[in-house]
Amino acid sequence: MDFREPEELLLLRETARRLTDEVFRPKAAHWDRTTEAPVENLRHLALHGLAGITIEERFGGAGGSVVHAVAAIEEVARGCTATAAFILANCVSAEILQAMGSEAQKQRYLPGLAEGRFVGAWAMTEADAGSAATELRTRARADGNGHYLLDGTKQFITRAGVAGFFIVFARLGDAPGARGVTAFIVDRDTPGLSLGRRDVHMGLRGGASAEVVLRECRVPADSMLLPAGQFGRLMSGLNQARVLNPGMCLGIADEALRLATLHVQTRRQFGQALADFQGLQWMLADMAVKVDAMRLLIYRAAAQLAAAHPDGAHNAAIAKAYSGEAAFEVVDAAMQLHGGYGYSSELPLERMLRDVRAFKIGGGSTQIMKNRIASGLFRRNPA
Ligand SMILES: Cc1cc2nc3c(=O)[nH]c(=O)nc-3n(C[C@H](O)[C@H](O)[C@H](O)COP(=O)(O)OP(=O)(O)OC[C@H]3O[C@@H](n4cnc5c(N)ncnc54)[C@H](O)[C@@H]3O)c2cc1C
Repeated sequence: MDFREPEELLLLRETARRLTDEVFRPKAAHWDRTTEAPVENLRHLALHGLAGITIEERFGGAGGSVVHAVAAIEEVARGCTATAAFILANCVSAEILQAMGSEAQKQRYLPGLAEGRFVGAWAMTEADAGSAATELRTRARADGNGHYLLDGTKQFITRAGVAGFFIVFARLGDAPGARGVTAFIVDRDTPGLSLGRRDVHMGLRGGASAEVVLRECRVPADSMLLPAGQFGRLMSGLNQARVLNPGMCLGIADEALRLATLHVQTRRQFGQALADFQGLQWMLADMAVKVDAMRLLIYRAAAQLAAAHPDGAHNAAIAKAYSGEAAFEVVDAAMQLHGGYGYSSELPLERMLRDVRAFKIGGGSTQIMKNRIASGLFRRNPA
């Protein structure tokens, strides 16, 4: 067991960190304040091979694994969560397209993602189908002319305001639950697709999140990714998201720990540095333990997913369940160590706290991850 990172991963980190320090971090507060999505950063990500990090080289990507993607996301999330989320989005789109898409679909979408020309969005959640995604009601019906008509409303769709295409989950036929669900790739300018209410989230405010409304939205038959009845396979396209999303938690938490470690050494109260109070040293130590545990869980799961190890999906759920909660605790503790300064928007901590809170919910809540972990335990240990 060797915990040293290979040279190429270290180089990738260095590139992502430099880009973050020079380009992304300086405008992170701007995207949060204006609620604009940092679309201009797609170009920078593409120039440095980070937009198409897991996209095959023949489509213009870097051909890296999910481990590379987690490392890039971790470094970018230290400075700008909204930009790190673009890398995540592209990796999720790439995973689905590369695993399930036709050659024509790959040719159509993957080069544009790698070049930073557009991003994709994942449209599954509905008003009455959140955690229970298989209860979704958006319907697809064949029009008899080689097309399907989609009708329904999706909500909380990250990047809806800026996405070039959507992976839309819909129900085809009368089969109930998971058996009736399939997914289509729908271009943004398809007649019948429009944006509804724009979300006002507490954090991830550069996420361009909105409702996506489909009214007799006519898509060609070959835009269907898989025939209905393969929901499990479609959802396996989210396995990588379950380590990429924790990768953002890790970057944010580690940055908060770094800021707190610096602050307590320079801030003086009662005639001494805050760092001299043992109670505060223990807070920092607890934060460091959590960050380290996150790191180990996330990279183990990522390495296993990259190697198609049978425990990869289970351990990704463990990584996500732990990281969402632990990262929030770490950033909250960092804010506490900064006192009133931490609560002020002069410093990035309050934005980081609002951003990181999302990861206990989005991409599968902590409770849903725990349900998955428990069912894995029962499967492995049948009584
Ligand atoms: C920041 C953010 C970004 C998002 N981006 C997207 C996106 O891009 N695309 C998309 O399709 N969706 C997206 N979502 C939606 C997200 O996937 C859902 O919000 C999430 O799955 C929870 O669904 P819900 O909000 O309907 O909550 P509910 O399902 O109503 O859950 C409410 C609470 O009950 C708990 N709960 C529910 N069922 C169980 C159970 N069986 N056992 C134990 N506890 C349970 C949940 O953990 C939660 O705490 C996003 C959400 C957020 C917050």
